[in-house]
This record gives sequence, structure tokens and C-alpha cells, in this order.
Amino acid sequence: MPSRVPAPFASFLLPALFFLAAQTSPTTTPSGFKDFSAEEAPTEQTFLAVPDPKLAGEELKTLTAEPHIAASPEDHKTAEYVAQKFKEAGLDTEIVPYKAWLNMPKEVKVEAWDADGKLLMSGPVKEHVDGNEPFQDDPRVTPAFNGSSPSGDVTAPAVYANYCRPEDFQKLKDLNIDVKGDIIVCRYGGNFRGVKVYIAQQLGAIGVIIYSDPSDSGYYRGDMYPHGAWGPETSVQRGSVQFMFKYPGDALTPGVASRPDLPESQRIPLDKVTSLPKIPSEPLSYHDAAPILEHLGGPDAPREWQGALPFTYHIGPGTKVHMLLNMDYQYRTIWDVIGTIPGTDFPDEWVVAGNHRDAWVYGAVDPNSGTAAMLEAVHGVGVLLKSGWKPKRKIVFCSWDAEEEGLIGSTEWAEDHANQLAHAVAYFNTDVGVSGPNFEASAVPSLKEFIRDVTKSVPSPKGGTVYDQWKKNQAEAARRRNTSGVEEHGARGNAHVDSDVNVGDLGSGSDFTPFIQHLGVPSSDIGSGGPYGVYHSVFDNYAWFTMNADPTFVYEQEMARVFGLLVVRMADTDVLPYDYLTYGKEIVAYIDTAEKKAKDDGVTGIDFSQAKAAAAKFTQLAEQVKIKQQQSTSDSTQQLATLNAQLRAVEAGFLSEPGLPNRPWFKHTIYAPGEYTGYAAVVIPGVNEAIDAKDSSRAQQQMTVLIEAITKATTTLDAIAK
Ligand SMILES: [Zn+2]
Repeated sequence: MPSRVPAPFASFLLPALFFLAAQTSPTTTPSGFKDFSAEEAPTEQTFLAVPDPKLAGEELKTLTAEPHIAASPEDHKTAEYVAQKFKEAGLDTEIVPYKAWLNMPKEVKVEAWDADGKLLMSGPVKEHVDGNEPFQDDPRVTPAFNGSSPSGDVTAPAVYANYCRPEDFQKLKDLNIDVKGDIIVCRYGGNFRGVKVYIAQQLGAIGVIIYSDPSDSGYYRGDMYPHGAWGPETSVQRGSVQFMFKYPGDALTPGVASRPDLPESQRIPLDKVTSLPKIPSEPLSYHDAAPILEHLGGPDAPREWQGALPFTYHIGPGTKVHMLLNMDYQYRTIWDVIGTIPGTDFPDEWVVAGNHRDAWVYGAVDPNSGTAAMLEAVHGVGVLLKSGWKPKRKIVFCSWDAEEEGLIGSTEWAEDHANQLAHAVAYFNTDVGVSGPNFEASAVPSLKEFIRDVTKSVPSPKGGTVYDQWKKNQAEAARRRNTSGVEEHGARGNAHVDSDVNVGDLGSGSDFTPFIQHLGVPSSDIGSGGPYGVYHSVFDNYAWFTMNADPTFVYEQEMARVFGLLVVRMADTDVLPYDYLTYGKEIVAYIDTAEKKAKDDGVTGIDFSQAKAAAAKFTQLAEQVKIKQQQSTSDSTQQLATLNAQLRAVEAGFLSEPGLPNRPWFKHTIYAPGEYTGYAAVVIPGVNEAIDAKDSSRAQQQMTVLIEAITKATTTLDAIAK
């Protein structure tokens, strides 16, 4: 599951040019080192020369040879393959099993009739394209279904609700349409699919169909596979509908590691579970959804609800739908692969890097383009180890399982190691490693400058550095927006407090979630995007990848270099290179934006002044800490250990033990996935979601929680500055 929507207009960029092995010297000297050019630069040059496009391509081909959904025998084979690669590089490697409550489809049936009782469709059809498609006919391809959907047998009138966002249901309400007892037809896009089901369930709907409209991922966007990158007629987006914004991971063990030997008494009973939907849902292709939509009567859907199918979309009623889902729920074993390298100077300061390995089907882009990049990064680290290099910090490479079902492998492992992770210095994620040539990143503010610095040290296949191309891309995107008049759909409150390349905020949708939002480990997520209309379908396979995403694997090489260099550099810095000045400025901007929103929405009685003062104080001290960081690189190892522990404790200050209202698993007071957006980040979530709910007393109470957290972090900054 990727954390970001694919970039719409990217494929016109030049194809990869051949380039020399990494000879790019950083354009600025990275911070945190006593003597970067003498101590670190040679190590990095050695590392950067290793990741190999051809090997990445071979690794991707091996990983995606068979469908390998979590907990399947083929998934276990990929775990053994990754473990073998880790071992070859010299990592201390272990396959770590967890036991999770997972569903697989036994029987899936959707039928529809028009108002006269005439059968319109009986499906779903198998995903299929004409021509030579080498992967679609494998009998192990899992039928399309939603992870975490319950079984169900429901028949009801269908109602079309656009993207099924809160504002879409509000529109239906304004039109006096009650969706109680109906089956809701949603199109993919605009939010996380679990949110669509969550809202429909709250409004009393009895079933949900989620389909891929050609306007969002099909022919309206460009040529369809096998002629292009976009989704063909029968392509279906599988996916989890777990309420991950309540808590991710195994549904029966929130906050507790679901080890195989965990007694039943420590797993919560099913009736206490809040992360599983109660109404059935099923994803459909537009081939199967079109007849349902075409025969809907009632009012015309609003203009902006119209998709690209060749008829006018109506809201309903008019079509009757029958959904029969028979799900096989069981405890199933999943397998993380963990490879470690001990640290010399700061052995308890872990640098963790991960990518998931399980796929809904073949998963060439999602997630194994990231796995191949990680394996080539590990290959480079292995060459360093053989040359005698020893990192100052402990390095942990992780290949997660069952991410697709609900971030399960990463969440269970993070819960298992919560004590050690309390002083892990960073978690670096990549999920969709490569779907095209456009580098993108999200991170906590303290890591944004570090990520930019790393991309300044890595060459781009298009010439210059990754940073140069990233900057050029963002400038072009901004220019297109200006000429088209289309506003950027960033996360609400996304503060861009400097004029440099924008690094996004972390929402959810991938394995960084337990690290930053549950445990407060400074985290980032990187990927390289392009047109990608086959997400979570059988067509996300090696043939699609080599045709559309990265035919010569040079972007795989680029991602391996960036991902690996994040790890190597962070493991070697003398002083942790966290940028708390930017963090402070962003928090100030978040509070200002929330105040404006409260005012615009008429939510009164919230005092913003104390929070603003707390954030200003944080920012002021962060400026002094920045100087201290620059002056301390020559300190003794003992002094550095103390300073680094304090620097790390600043982020921990942002955690609040009780967590967010009604979702205590989420403990970070600055970032969370939105309860009603899912993928996108909500900043200062306690306050902002209370404002959204027009609940000023909850907003004020959450303001107090926020002030306490900022003050806690500020106290640590103060101790460092002294
Ligand atoms: Zn993924």
C-alpha cells in the first residue's frame, strides 16, 4: 500500500540516460560529522558504487515470480530469499514469525438487477486482458477481495456516493437521501478505502462496493495496460478496509506483540475489536461496476461526481445489488525478516530501515520495487562490512510481512521491541520504491534537511543529483498548477516553512506508522513515482514494471543508493543531525492554521495563545540547540552519547501517554492519519479533529495535551542548550 497518490503527469520526462558510477560529491557538507570529508566521504563513495541495476532487476524478477500474499507458502519462499540475501551481506539474520487474525476469500459473488428485475451483471469477472500477458492466468492469483471485510449476504438498493468522503455523504444528506439500509457504491480515490466503509457503516449502510473509475486510474488518464501504464477494464484494486486509523496491526492484539506463543487470554475477544468493519465490502473493476451505475435512477449526480464511463451518473435508486461474501478467517502465521549489524560507539541507538515484502498478487511496484532497492542497499552495506567498516550505531534492516492487511508485520515487531525503539534514532521506510522517475519523500520535520542532504550526494539517471531533479520536478509541478489554476491537494495544515524542496508530512498507509505515531521514532518514507494505474491488481507484475516503470532498473539503483545512504550516514554521524528549528516553525504554522480554521468554521471558546507561546519558545531554543549541535562534533564518545540521547528525547516529548481521543494507540500529538482521511496526515490531530467535529470543549482539552507535549520537548531542548 503506498502512502501517496501517483504523480499524474510524469511520463513525458526523458528516459534514463546512462551515467557513470557515483562520483558526485555532496554540494553541501552534511552536518553532524567532526570531519565529513576525511571520515565519512570515502565510506559513502564505496557504498554508492555498489548498487547495481542489473542485479536489482534480477532480484525483482525473483521476488515477483509467483503471487505471494501474506501467510502463503510463496510468501514464505520470499522470506527465505530475502534472509539469504541479508546473510550473504553479513547481516545477523532471523525470520521472525507472528500470528495474525486474517481473512481469505472462500466465495465472492456480486449480482445486480434493474428496476424491472432484469439481471444486469453477475460477477466479479476474472482480471483479464487480450494479448500476451504472461501473469494473469496463474491459478494462485487471489480473487479480488477486501482484507478485513466480514462475511455477509446482503441485498439492497444501490446508492452512488462518489469518493465516499465526509463531504460526499453530506451532499447526499443535503439532497435528502438517507443511505440507511442501502449498499453504497464508492469510487476509489480521495481517501483510504477503510474510511469509505467506516463512514458508510456509521450511516447505517449494509454493504459497500468500491470500484476503480476510468477517470481516476483508467483510460481517461492514458493508455491502458498492455499498451500503457493505466488500468484495463477488468483491473481491480484489492486492499484492506481495516480501520487502521483506530489501530493498525493484528486486530486482536492492539499494543501487544502477536507472537505465536501469546496466550489466547491476552488476545482481545472479537466483540471488543474496533479495527474491523461490521459491514461487508468488495472491490470491483469498472467492467463489473458499470452496469450497476448505468441503471441507477434518481437525481443526476453532481457534475464533479461524474466519472469517465459513457453515461450520466445518477445517485439512485434503481439498481438492486446482492453481495455474497464468504470469508475464511483464521490465525495465520506471517514472517518478518530482520537483519542486524552491531554498532561500535552507540550500540543502543538503532537505525532501522524497512520495506514490506508481501503483495496482494505479484506486487512488482507495490512493494517489491522497494524490496529490490533495499536488497541492493544491503548489498552495498555488505561490501562496506567486508572492507572493514563498522557503523557507530546498530543497523536493523527489516522485510515486513502482511503490510497489505493492516501494517501487521511492522506493527507487531515495533510493539515487540518498544523498549529498545524508545531510543532508536530513525526509521527509514520505502514501500512503492519505484513506479516511475520522480523522487518523493515524506518525513518528520527534524529529518527533512537530512533527507535533502542525502539526495544531494546521489546521482540521478537524468543528470545532476537526485536533489537537482527533485527540485526541478517540484518547480515544474508548481508551474503546471499555476497555469491550470488547480490547487495543490496537500495534507491539511501542511506548512511549507522554507523555500527548499518540499518534504511531505507523514500520514499513514505504510510501515512507518507504528514507529512515528505509536513510539515516536523519527521517521521518513521515500519512493520514486510515475503513472501507475494497476495498483493492487494482477497487472502490477514484472511485465508491467519493465514496460512502464523502470525498464533498465536505473531508478531501482537510485532508490537503493538513497535508501542505503540514509542508513549509512545516520549510523555514522557523531552528532544526530535532527533539525528542530524547522520542527518548531512547522508547529507554529500548524497552530496558526488551526486557529484560522476554527475562526472560519465558527468554533469559538478555544484559547490558542498558550500553545502559540509554547511553540515559539520551542523554536527559540531550537535555534540555540542548532549551534550546540554544530559545536559538539569533537566531543568525547561519552559526551556525544549523552547529547544524542537528549536530542532523541525531544521527539519522545511529543508523545502523549493517553493517546488521541477514542484511539489511544496513536500517541503522537503532532502527526496522525486522519480519522476521516486515512492516508493523509492530520497535523496536531487532537486539536484539528475536535475543530472539525465543532467540539470546542474537546478542542480546548486537546490543546492542553498539545501544550504539555510541546513543553516537555522544550524542557529537553533547554537542557541541551545549557
Ligand atoms: Zn505497499
